[in-house]
Amino acid sequence: MNIAIGGIWHETNTFARDTTPLESFYAYQFARGAEMSRRYKSVRNEIGGMIAGARKNRFKVTPLVFAGAVPSGIVQRDAFETLAGMLLDDLAAIDGVDGVLLALHGAMVVEGLDDAEGELLRRVRALVRDKPIVATFDIHANMSEDMMAHADVLIGYETYPHVDAHERGMQAADVMRGLARGQIDPTAVWYPLSLLSVPQTQGTAQSPMREIMARRAEIAQDPYVVSASVIAGYPYADIERAGMSILITTNDETELAHDYAYELHKMIWERRDAFRAKNTPVAAAVKKAAASTTTPAILVDVADNIGGGAPGDGTVLLKGLLDAQAQAAVVTIADPEAVATAIAAGVGQPVTLQVGGKTDSMHGRPVTVRGTVRLISSGEYAHKGSYMTGQVMRMGRTVVLDCDGLTLVLMERKTMPFDAEQLRSLGIEPADQKIIVVKSAIAWQAAYGDIAREVVYVDTPGICTANLKKLPYQKVRRPIFPLEEL
Ligand SMILES: [Zn+2]
Repeated sequence: MNIAIGGIWHETNTFARDTTPLESFYAYQFARGAEMSRRYKSVRNEIGGMIAGARKNRFKVTPLVFAGAVPSGIVQRDAFETLAGMLLDDLAAIDGVDGVLLALHGAMVVEGLDDAEGELLRRVRALVRDKPIVATFDIHANMSEDMMAHADVLIGYETYPHVDAHERGMQAADVMRGLARGQIDPTAVWYPLSLLSVPQTQGTAQSPMREIMARRAEIAQDPYVVSASVIAGYPYADIERAGMSILITTNDETELAHDYAYELHKMIWERRDAFRAKNTPVAAAVKKAAASTTTPAILVDVADNIGGGAPGDGTVLLKGLLDAQAQAAVVTIADPEAVATAIAAGVGQPVTLQVGGKTDSMHGRPVTVRGTVRLISSGEYAHKGSYMTGQVMRMGRTVVLDCDGLTLVLMERKTMPFDAEQLRSLGIEPADQKIIVVKSAIAWQAAYGDIAREVVYVDTPGICTANLKKLPYQKVRRPIFPLEEL
C-alpha cells in the first residue's frame, strides 16, 4: 500500500483587510517531500498522526507537501495555485498510488474560489480517480457539498482547543486501511444548520458543546459508524456555506447516518441560544481583572483573535490597562516597527513607542507607551503543552518592555497564544502574573486554562467580534441564526 500524504491548511477571515500571500505559508508551515516527514513525524498535528498511522498499518508513505499559514485574509490566487500545483505534481509523479490522506482546514477562501478545499479535492479526485481519499478537517471548517462529493471519508476534529489533531490523523490512516481492503463502503450524510456560532461559545469543554460532543462520541462507538463529526464552523467567512454542520459516515447504512445526523442537528438547534456570546465592556473587564483576589486573571480579547485571522495588534485592552494603571499585567502585540525601534535603543534603555493599531482601524488606535527594554529575543520557541506539541513557533524578533508595572511583549509576527512557552521563553512566568491578555477566543486554554483563576471575555472591537451583527455579511446564506432570530 503506497499512501500519499499532504495538505494545505488555512482559516480565512474574509473580513481582514489584507490578502494572504505565498510567503505567509513559507513563514509558518511549509515542507515538501522527505523534509515533510522529517519535520512532522514528531509533531502532534494531523500530518504527524497520518505518518504514525501509516506506519502502524505498514503503508509505504509518499510525502507530498504540507503548507499552512497563520489565519488571515483571503488567500491570493497564485499562492493557492502554486501550493496546489506542488501537491498535484508530486501526486502525479508517484508510480502506483493506492490512496491519499489530506490534512485540510475547511475554511480556506481563495481569490475567485470561495470553496478552496472543495476545488482541491476535485483536482485530487480527477488525478487518482477511484483510489480512496480521506481528509481531516478543523472543527472550524465550513463544509460543502463539493468537499463531500470528492472525498471518500471526511473526519473533523473533536476538540477545541484542538488537542486531537494527531489522533484524527491516525484515525484517517485506519479508515484508509478499511477502504483499501474493501471493508468499508462509505455512506455519508451532511446536515448543515442555519447557525453561525462564534468561537468563544464552541469550546468542547464547556456547555453546550460538551453535551453535544458527548452524544457525538456515543454515536461514533456504533460499529456501523465510520466517522461522526460535529463541525462548529467558522463565522468570519462571508461565503454562502459558512456555518455549523453535522457529518456522519457509516459503513453502507444510509438510514442510520440520517438518524444520527438528524438527532445531532435537533440537539444543536434546540440549544442555539447557548451559542450567543455575552461579553464585558473593556473598562468593566479591566476593573474586574484588576480587582480579582485570585490570579492570574485572563482578559480574553476575542475580537483580535489571532487564530481567527485577526491582526494581533489590537490596542483596546492595552490602553484600558494603562489607563487603569494595572500592575503585573502582560500584553502581547504584533508590531515589527516598534520592535525595530526598541532593538535600536537596546536592553536597559528607555523608549517611547507608538504601539499597535497599525494594520487597520478596526482594533483600536496606536497607543503611546513609555518603558524600558527588558529583553531582546529571537522569538523562537517549541510547543510543550497539549496543543501541537513539538511545533516550533517563530514570533520573529521579540522585545519585552517594562511599562510602569505592565509587561509589554512586542513581536514581529503575530503568533497564536496556544502554549505557555510563548511567555516562558521570554523569562515571563505566566503563573506569577496578575493579568494576562490573550488574543484568542478558546484555544488560549491550552496554554493557561489550568492556571486561570478568573476569566473575563471582553467586548473588544475587531474582525473576530462576538457580535456577528456588526459584520457586513453579503454572501452568507440567509436567513441564518443569530443574524436573524429563527
Ligand atoms: Zn480551529
